[in-house]
Formats: sequence, C-alpha cells, structure tokens
Amino acid sequence: MDKSNLTEEEWKTCLTPEQYKVLRKAGTEAAFTGKYYKHHETGMYVCAACGQELFSSDTKFDSGTGWPSFTEPVNRELVELKEDKSHGMIRTEVLCKNCGSHLGHVFPDGPKEKGGQRYCINSLSLDFKKS
Ligand code: FE
Repeated sequence: MDKSNLTEEEWKTCLTPEQYKVLRKAGTEAAFTGKYYKHHETGMYVCAACGQELFSSDTKFDSGTGWPSFTEPVNRELVELKEDKSHGMIRTEVLCKNCGSHLGHVFPDGPKEKGGQRYCINSLSLDFKKS
C-alpha cells in the first residue's frame, strides 16, 4: 500500500493513537519511555508509518537523552529537514520524506568524530527490522 498520500482520517485508522500523535501531529514521546532508546540489536530502523528504511543500527549511539539517537540517516535523501519554531525554540525537524510523517529533531551536538549530528528520533516513529 502506498502510504505517501493518505488523508489524516486514513492515518488514524492505520496508526495507534500514540503513534498518530507523534507521527502526524509532531508530538514527542516522554524521554526514557520508548522501546528503542536502549535497544542494541543489529538491523534497520524503518518509518513506523510507511516502512521506509531510515536509520541503521550502525549509526545508533547512546546519547543519554532517553530517545533513540543516530549520527545520520541511512541516506540523507530519505529524510526531510525543516525549520521548527514551535515551543519557543528554533529546532530542525526531521520528517520521513516518503510519507511526510514526523520523526524527531536533529541537533548539532552529536559525536564529533562521527560528523557532530544527533538525530533524536521518537521510538514511536520507528519499527525495527533485525538483520
Ligand atoms: Fe514514512
């Protein structure tokens, strides 16, 4: 099923209410509550909404923030970065380019030796495919 063009009503029927709030309403799960922040298996994290491959476990690191953190997407073309001025901050929002769903934010305080980026992604926005 092509999920790049669903209406919000259609999204509601194929996501859980918690996923809908994060993926379609740019919500944020509470820190240290998601299923992937402490997850260390080898494989691929994909968009929970459309299944697009997004982040490899090779780029995952423990940021101590309570959210899954990655130094980079598996391919920069697969995510969209957008300025986000909500909540009185200027941040860079990360979206799935395939379906437009909200994933999280990217911050310039990641590991220096790996490019210095920290993609801070909600567990609710991800599914995991073990390799
Ligand atoms: Fe997606």
